[in-house]
Amino acid sequence: MSTSLVKIKDKEFIIKIASATIQDRVKTLAAQINHDYEGKMPIIVGVLNGAVLFTCDLFKNLNMECELTFLRVSSYHGGLTSSGEVSRVIGLKENIEGRHVLMIEDIVDSGETAMHLFSELQKHNPASLKLATALFKPAALKHNLTPDYVGFEVENDFLVGYGLDYDGLGRNLNDIYVLKP
Ligand code: 5GP
Ligand code: MG
Repeated sequence: MSTSLVKIKDKEFIIKIASATIQDRVKTLAAQINHDYEGKMPIIVGVLNGAVLFTCDLFKNLNMECELTFLRVSSYHGGLTSSGEVSRVIGLKENIEGRHVLMIEDIVDSGETAMHLFSELQKHNPASLKLATALFKPAALKHNLTPDYVGFEVENDFLVGYGLDYDGLGRNLNDIYVLKP
């Protein structure tokens, strides 16, 4: 059962997308992916931490031979750019050269993260590289990028739950919530 209102630290959030709706959508996306990747033995690459729930739910519904791995982006202050902030990809141990790679994100907002990860993964010469995202905010997009599989298109509001956090909390909520106006 889900509650329509949750409080995380100082903020209140109201329910936006119920767990049952999310799970239905995940099954539909998984069916498309099963069809598109049949016989291709893809490698599923979840982006931590946010995409952990979506990645697992999707993965459970895949019925072809496939591998699973995770990566994360670490930000550190290296003084290498004008902002002094550089992000690098950590955790990918598998050789993805010649492989069909499906990257899984929690949300595409400006598209900055997805673009960065895409160009990093592309350097390893995968046979193909696609992006699935649980949520997509088209109005916030600043890069020329179209996710291949989208759970839900949402407005440009701050969301929590289903992997998304507010100050580290709320990732374990099964429903998706929006900041109360
Ligand atoms: P982008 O690089 O596309 O601008 O944003 C990607 C990251 O910003 C996401 O992976 C997520 O961590 C964070 N983000 C963007 N929109 C939201 C949101 O509505 N709620 C939360 N909790 N995080 C968001
Ligand atoms: Mg993320």
